[in-house]
Amino acid sequence: MKTETIAIHGGNNVTDALKPVIQPITLSTTFEHQDNSMLYGRLENPNRKSLEQVMAALEKGVDAAAFSSGNAAANAVFQALPAGAHVIAPDDMYHGLRSLLETVFFDKIHVDFVDMTQPEQVAAAIKPATHLLWIESPSNPLLKISAIKTLCHLAHENDVTVVCDNTFASPIFQQPLEEGADLVMHSNTKYIGGHSDVIGGVLITGKKTDFWNKIRSVQQLAGAVPSPFDTYFLTRSIKTLPYRMKAHAANASQIARFLSKHPLIEKVYYPGLETHPGHKTARAQMQGYGGMLSVVIKGNARDADRFVDELTYFSNATSLGGVESLIERRSRVQGVTEGVPEQLIRISAGLENTEDLLEDLEKGLKVLR
Ligand SMILES: *Cc1c(COP(=O)(O)O)cnc(C)c1O
Repeated sequence: MKTETIAIHGGNNVTDALKPVIQPITLSTTFEHQDNSMLYGRLENPNRKSLEQVMAALEKGVDAAAFSSGNAAANAVFQALPAGAHVIAPDDMYHGLRSLLETVFFDKIHVDFVDMTQPEQVAAAIKPATHLLWIESPSNPLLKISAIKTLCHLAHENDVTVVCDNTFASPIFQQPLEEGADLVMHSNTKYIGGHSDVIGGVLITGKKTDFWNKIRSVQQLAGAVPSPFDTYFLTRSIKTLPYRMKAHAANASQIARFLSKHPLIEKVYYPGLETHPGHKTARAQMQGYGGMLSVVIKGNARDADRFVDELTYFSNATSLGGVESLIERRSRVQGVTEGVPEQLIRISAGLENTEDLLEDLEKGLKVLR
């Protein structure tokens, strides 16, 4: 099966005698004892299993574990590490995960945050206690591109496990397991769900290892599992994921080109632009450049807020990956950090008509003149 076919037929396990075309939602928390039957809803559920199967197939993995959020999925990886483990993570790691490491795991895991666009910085950070290399590419919000194959090679030479947060690319545009990663993580809240109405997360593995078994135990015993409704919505959304991603990327690319020529825009971060420092790497490891971009306007935070508030089709809200365009001044959420000035605006290109979106941005920029 090829991608579009997997998205529609993968994991759609109909066992009902009525033969519905779409697998029903199974709400039952318990199942009658039989050989090989499911036992209890925290451990297993048919809709969760369907989501895990289709995500494993899309990422070319052998197994997947679904969680109640992206952070819960990442949390399971960190919980599965031995106490005292050393982790290398990107210096611009998704801020919610950086906070998780720094607040919950600070006394269990030692983390070095490095610039992953520079493999020699990763090589220099590897120590005997290093267990895990966490990659995020493209990164949030600077759309930095890490060379996944190079970093995996470096990690594996040192017996380090590699996890790649593939949320921004989606499995449609990037398959990190094929580049050598051991595990892939997604926030299902973003493109997988795609309609801004479900919180969820997933891990996919390329091999069934002891580490993977431990992660499965964290899922089933710690129990941060998604509901049957949530997993049903996610498998429903995945059916259109390949087509949504192409349309998100087409809109993002048009917006990036439009804004990069605009006199009131200082800088545009989009890996599809030839001027982006990670463009060549992105072209080699991605099949599309995604629907996310960031821009720095000429002006200060107040100007950025005035621009954002002037827009009609872009909602001023955090998150990404939904059918509706979203825009936010990023430092409202994560503060001013290195490389993220107060006037940096992050855009999630939705699926509205391209011309409507460009006209809206043009109108919004007029307040800055
Ligand atoms: C949103 C996001 C997460 C966290 O996912 P939640 O579903 O919000 O818990 C992790 N990584 C990236 C890149 C994200 O965008």
